[in-house]
Parts: sequence; C-alpha cells; structure tokens
Amino acid sequence: MRLLDIQNLHTTFDIHVGHVQAVRGVTLHVDEGETVGIVGESGSGKSVTMLSVMHLLPDYARIEADKLTFGDLDLTRASVNTFRKLEGDEIGMVFQDPMTSLNPLFTVGQQLMEPLRIHKKMSKTQAKERVLEILRTIQMPDPESRLKQYPHELSGGMRQRVMIGMAIACNPRLIIADEPTTALDVTIQAQILELLMDLKKRLNTSIIMITHDLGVIAGMCSRVMVMYGGRIVEEGTLREVFYDPKHPYTWGLLRSIPQRQGERQRLVPIPGSPPDLIAPPPGCPFAPRCPYAMRICNSALPEHRSLSDTHKVSCYLLDEGAPKVEWGGRAR
Ligand code: SF4
Repeated sequence: MRLLDIQNLHTTFDIHVGHVQAVRGVTLHVDEGETVGIVGESGSGKSVTMLSVMHLLPDYARIEADKLTFGDLDLTRASVNTFRKLEGDEIGMVFQDPMTSLNPLFTVGQQLMEPLRIHKKMSKTQAKERVLEILRTIQMPDPESRLKQYPHELSGGMRQRVMIGMAIACNPRLIIADEPTTALDVTIQAQILELLMDLKKRLNTSIIMITHDLGVIAGMCSRVMVMYGGRIVEEGTLREVFYDPKHPYTWGLLRSIPQRQGERQRLVPIPGSPPDLIAPPPGCPFAPRCPYAMRICNSALPEHRSLSDTHKVSCYLLDEGAPKVEWGGRAR
C-alpha cells in the first residue's frame, strides 16, 4: 500500500540574490514496509525534498506540488499542528549530527520521554517504562544509567542510537534517515545500519535513506533514486541501478565507491561541481560535467524515460542514434 506519494514537487528558496530552485519536479513514492534510497552529492536536493514533505523549511521556502500525500492525509493542505503531530508520531526523523539535534540541556531520558508524553499522552511512569524498552530495543548498553546522562556524556554511536530511539518512540510508519552514519566511523556505521534494518523488520516501518554513499544504499534499500541538480536523473530497483545503470552521473557515483584492486583501493572522483540552482542550465543539469554531452544536452531537458516498470532515466544517450558509450567495460 502506498504510504508517501510525491508528484512534481518544486521547492524554491527566495533569497536576496535570486530564487534557488533546490527541488525541480521530483516525483517519488514509498510503499508500506519498503526501504527506499535517495542518493546524490551535497546540494542535489535530496534532503530538501524530505524537509519539504515535513514542512521543516524556513519561511522563504516556497513548496509546490501536484500531489503530496501521506496515507490518506493531503500534506498540501495540512496545518502546522498537523505537521508537528505527524513528526514523531507517524514519521520519525534521524539526522546526520545527533549533537546538533539533541538538546544538550536535557538528559537522554527526558528527551526520549517527550514525544511519548506529547503524542501518546503517557504518564511519567508509563513513558519511563517505554523509554527503557526503547533503549533495550536500540541495544543501548546499561539503559538505566543512560536515562540520567546528557548527550555530551555519550559516544557518537550512542548519541545516534538515541536519535533512532526518539524516531521510533511512537512506532512511526515511516523513518526518514538523512545521512545517519556520515559522522560515524566505519565500525559504528555498520552497527547503526544493522540496527535500522533490524528495527524495520521488527516494526515493519518504511525507511527513506538519504545518503551520498551508494555503499549504504546497497546494504539496505530495495529501490534507489539518484538525484542531481534538484531532479531525479535515474531511478530503479537496486539491481537495475547497480548492475544496469544508464545515466553517466550514476556511473560516476558507482566509480567513486572504493574498489579493491589487488592491495590498493582506487577511487575515481567526478570532476567539476554541481550546477548553480539560481540559474540552472536549460538542458541536462549534468551536461557541464558529462564526458558524453552532446549539443542537445545543453539546450533542452531530457525526458524521464521508462525502461521498465521501475527503471527510469533522464538522458539523451538512450535516444535512438545516440553514440554508444561504455559502462564498466560493457557496451550499452
Ligand atoms: Fe550527459 Fe547528455 Fe545524458 Fe546529460 S543528457 S547525462 S549531458 S549525455
């Protein structure tokens, strides 16, 4: 069943130097129990897409969409109160840096109890019992003593577990995890991803994983959306995007995953920088960095073309008569 449905979302920031078109016509959906990945560089629009859904953007952001629904709720008409109820109760959010998301003045126990007291109207005793249960669920060592500790007394991995605990406190239907492991070292990163997957299995929660790291997506998502310049440039099942990618930007992302070659690791960066979204190029946003760009790429946006029920790509290389180029040594 469809949980989140976004059609033709545009988010624009009206600032003194112009209008930043951060999200330009994004269409995506998430079904119940599904784990979907959104991948792209900083500034590609992946986080702004989700913050737009939650109306967690400043006043100078303009959000427009043909459709924006969560379950039966039309989010284009929802009030501020509805959004605040939704956040924490139905949708849990986990951000990159728990130190800036947790309040340094309150203990872990107080912060975990707050959503339960607000959304579930629990008494202090009930909330404390539930918090202990949550701390055990997120495999927090010595839960009783953690209740009384402040965020600065915990390690980075433990703080991220607390953020996940806050996100799942009210048994939400959807967790939006925005770069949840970027600030953590590799071992803790693996533990946090494992914890999210374990929670998903146990609670049947849908997850949207926002990341710049395709490696994170590979471990947990069934569908992937690749964003660039505020648009989705390729989307498909994990298999389609990883084993049969069609967009040169996806190729670049895949090549920038560390690969073992004998004893050496080889990383291939994508040269150039993301487009200026105040005056985005009229054609394909990736054209200035694309080694295969043709004249048409600079003048008109490529259509988002369906290659299967699930695989869609925006690239002129898929046109009949376009030059044949190679990906990973395989001719297209
Ligand atoms: Fe490259 Fe053109 Fe395809 Fe854009 S549309 S990714 S510029 S080939």
